[in-house]
Amino acid sequence: MNAPARPRVRLATTSLAGCFGCHMSLLDIDERLFALLDRVEFDRTPLTDIKACGPCDIGLVEGGASNAENVEVLREFRRQCRILIALGACAVNGGLPAQRNHLDLEDCLTQVYLTGPGMQNGRIPDDPELPLVLDKVYPLHEIVRVDYFIPGCPPSADAIWAFLTQLLAGQEPVLGHGLIAYD
Ligand code: SF4
Repeated sequence: MNAPARPRVRLATTSLAGCFGCHMSLLDIDERLFALLDRVEFDRTPLTDIKACGPCDIGLVEGGASNAENVEVLREFRRQCRILIALGACAVNGGLPAQRNHLDLEDCLTQVYLTGPGMQNGRIPDDPELPLVLDKVYPLHEIVRVDYFIPGCPPSADAIWAFLTQLLAGQEPVLGHGLIAYD
């Protein structure tokens, strides 16, 4: 008799203020994706084009929160995902987008849209469709509770694979020497 199939784990991913490099690193697990797909089914991800995150076991979030929409999506992931993981430096500490935290937001908008070289009759965009820019870029844990952090810019495919396989096996994930990269 065949062993009963293991229930598949529902997994969601999203990119907030990130560059999708961490998602690329996830895809870089290459043929191991087939083994992963035996164990998980995808909810909201850039692969499925599902617009709203449903109840999930694991949420992987790339990027920090730079605008109001990022905060909304992050809170949705926290509500829906039993385990929330900050994936990559931008999610862990703001990363590259947080370089703007050293600058005054109003000065930036003024320079870019009003007084920058070649600007004439400029206007700071205020269409209600545009998400409100936050005063700075926030790492995820400053907005919601985060269960795990995977540092690196991006974390390597091997690190993501090791982390997920341990988690899916019901183990406490430990990334040993050579798998963790701090930026
Ligand atoms: Fe891109 Fe690096 Fe940020 Fe990942 S951590 S979203 S690779 S800049």
